[in-house]
Amino acid sequence: MHTRTVRVPVLPVRHGAPGRPYRHRGKQEALNARPDHRNPLVFDTHELGRRPGAMQRLSRSVDAPADLGIEVIGVPAGATVELDLRLESVMEGVLVTGTARAPLTGECVRCLEPVERTLETDFQEMFSYPDADSRARPVADPEDDAEEETFSVEDGLIDLEPVLRDAVVLALPLQPVCREDCPGLCTQCGARLADEPDHHHDAVDDRWAALQGLADSFRVGGRNDVNGAGAGADEKQEK
Ligand SMILES: [Zn+2]
Ligand SMILES: [Zn+2]
Repeated sequence: MHTRTVRVPVLPVRHGAPGRPYRHRGKQEALNARPDHRNPLVFDTHELGRRPGAMQRLSRSVDAPADLGIEVIGVPAGATVELDLRLESVMEGVLVTGTARAPLTGECVRCLEPVERTLETDFQEMFSYPDADSRARPVADPEDDAEEETFSVEDGLIDLEPVLRDAVVLALPLQPVCREDCPGLCTQCGARLADEPDHHHDAVDDRWAALQGLADSFRVGGRNDVNGAGAGADEKQEK
């Protein structure tokens, strides 16, 4: 069985009775089903224990979940994501600090050629014990509510998938290019200009040729004046 996290638009949840830590309840339930320990992005914190100060380092290679990216670039589903993690037990939960490395594939937004990169991104996220919520979050500020995403330790398990998703998406180039100076495509014929540095159109089409001829005829007077008071003549024309 797959645990699939479905991204839903986050709206401020205002159902809390006074004094109730309503901060994330509704959203949390919608976002995170109970972590499935068979999901490779779910980590077990039992070994770490709840003694504050305890620390555990671990590395894991996982298959990338589907849709890990944006339209133009992302981590292909099933590609290997290497995770190096540090789990730290703190009073209110488990602090996860990590690095993710994964291959990226996408296409250049200028010339549509395939783009391949390696993504490396750091992240840090706090997973709170459910019973720590009321102590650790006495103040629920409605202004922050829509922004902040919180994560919980559920039955000693933490689901890193939404954290990985956020980290990857934030680290992606929004406008991937095959190279920084990619000249894109020829607007007339669609040729990839990086492949043909000298690409140009001599045999312009008939309409363009007609316009070109018209433009040339306007310039004839100016050109003939090159040896004389040409610059002055041009100025007069402009006035
Ligand atoms: Zn390009
Ligand atoms: Zn062309």
